[in-house]
Amino acid sequence: MLGWELLDNSLMQTELETQKEVKLQLRNAHKLPPAPKHANGWDRRDWVKNAKLQYQQFTCKGVNGQKCPQSNNKTQDYCTCAPAKWMCKACHIEHIVKLRNDGL
Ligand SMILES: [Zn+2]
Ligand SMILES: [Zn+2]
Repeated sequence: MLGWELLDNSLMQTELETQKEVKLQLRNAHKLPPAPKHANGWDRRDWVKNAKLQYQQFTCKGVNGQKCPQSNNKTQDYCTCAPAKWMCKACHIEHIVKLRNDGL
């Protein structure tokens, strides 16, 4: 633990701490789990589970207004900030990078 005096006197340290916190927040708010079984949509409050198959293959919609760069852009994953917004791993990284550049 750092003392308050040290924090107050060291702008560098404070900035580093802030960056660390931002990263942590990003990581917590933007996880990339697979959709639950049978889920094929989100009704703003909960999953819609109308799918016959347990696991769906969703088309990645891309991020930041850009198309998904993957040629085989199927995914089961979504970002926890936007359920049912299907996102492949490559796009999720882009998503995080953009958010970080925007300062969240
Ligand atoms: Zn997100
Ligand atoms: Zn993608």
